[in-house]
Amino acid sequence: MKRKRETKEERKRRAASVVRALRNRYPDATTALTFSNPFELLVATVLAAQCTDKKVNEVTPVLFRKYKGPGEFARARRPSLEKIIKPTGFFRNKSRNLVALSKDIVEKHGAVVPDKMEDLVALRGVGRKTANVVLAGAYDTPGIIVDTHMIRIANRLRFTREKDPVKIEHDLMDVLSRKVWSDFSFMIVLHGREVCKARKPLCHICNIEKWCPSSELES
Ligand code: SF4
Repeated sequence: MKRKRETKEERKRRAASVVRALRNRYPDATTALTFSNPFELLVATVLAAQCTDKKVNEVTPVLFRKYKGPGEFARARRPSLEKIIKPTGFFRNKSRNLVALSKDIVEKHGAVVPDKMEDLVALRGVGRKTANVVLAGAYDTPGIIVDTHMIRIANRLRFTREKDPVKIEHDLMDVLSRKVWSDFSFMIVLHGREVCKARKPLCHICNIEKWCPSSELES
């Protein structure tokens, strides 16, 4: 699909078409992490770095039975915590971050996970991606989650030409209506896993192919 230079308005219309088509394919897209409150989602998201959601979901029931809420995480003994989260990888770093961010939540936010981007990213070990997962998944606040799937697919769709996650987030904010940010994020994860795979995108079964400048069916 060779295109002439696309105007911003045309790109917005194309993005809206992509969102509509993705909704048809993934009507119930949401995070695959299991949680029962914002703090649990925050912890699960920290553990999900460099790990599958499936593995995290195996670990968190045990973890949340032992440590209930930010107060108990803040007082956790690191070796005990590390023993439980070890299967998720990078467990020393993750345990350090979980204890530190829990202390921040207890000391600065009365043991309640904040619901604003600026407060979330001020927690130790929390970046924009994690903050957006919490906003989108637990607080129903629009957020664009720029993970590896989003970096790849947003570029293939030419909604951005950036590799830096913060720049990609801003490019997507420009073309997507705010109310679809979260759904788009969750749908792109599913699309990346099932269709627009990293090595070999399955363009022949892709239902957003006609709006995708990178479709391999064109060549
Ligand atoms: S057409 Fe191909 S490259 Fe484009 S989004 Fe679909 S699978 Fe990915």
